[in-house]
Amino acid sequence: MMGYHVADRDKEFKALAGKAFGWAAAILFPPTCPGCRKLIAEPGTLCGDCWPKLRFLERPWCPVVGGPFAHDMGEGFLSAEAIANPPPFQRARAAVAFSGVARGMVHGLKYNDATGLAPWMARWMLRAGSELIADADVIVPVPLHWRRFLWRRFNQSAELARAVARLSGKPFEPLAVSRVKGTRQQVGLGQSQREDNVRGAFKVLSQHDILVRGRRVLVVDDVYTTGATVFAVARSLKRSGAAAVDVLTFARVLPGDFSADEVELI
Ligand SMILES: [Zn+2]
Repeated sequence: MMGYHVADRDKEFKALAGKAFGWAAAILFPPTCPGCRKLIAEPGTLCGDCWPKLRFLERPWCPVVGGPFAHDMGEGFLSAEAIANPPPFQRARAAVAFSGVARGMVHGLKYNDATGLAPWMARWMLRAGSELIADADVIVPVPLHWRRFLWRRFNQSAELARAVARLSGKPFEPLAVSRVKGTRQQVGLGQSQREDNVRGAFKVLSQHDILVRGRRVLVVDDVYTTGATVFAVARSLKRSGAAAVDVLTFARVLPGDFSADEVELI
């Protein structure tokens, strides 16, 4: 047939295979609500019970750490958290408060290899972090230690960072920061123990300096708990000459909600 090329046939085959896979996937993996695992009709949504439980973070918020204020405190007003423990990054933002449904989504992403969830969560991060993303030269994830990565084969921060980069068109550099020290899980640790645990854990290896030197770096993670992990990542980037560091997470533990036993950071 005129004009029928191998490429067309290839495309046709891919479309058919895609349809067949979609059909098989719907039977093998029926869509479940990422908040509560109940079956739902459409993949990529929350069920009607979970939607209202998700708390999107909105202005007014602390211009540094991004924690929401109950009232507008005026230009330049910083939260007690930012004053008590000034971060090595410039700004942090998060899409939702870490509780209930958000916790279910983060766990789904981390333990169920739910790569389908990442682009969806990233869309909300784009909204909360629009200024940070606009200013960023490069997007980097919080890395896992290679041993943990081999065991789990999946870095949820990298999946979120990859999705944010793809949706925003910014460069994604998953190797910019390395985790050079295995750290224990942060579960059950208090703030100062968490800081000790991640001290010296991250490094920009000399062959990767070029990815961050003189650039504005946006660090992406799943949850901001006490900030200990992203503090350590930001310090390693600044040591290697990053011009500035911002932090964007899907969820954020709000002061008062902090419960070390329930929150997992690494
Ligand atoms: Zn649900």
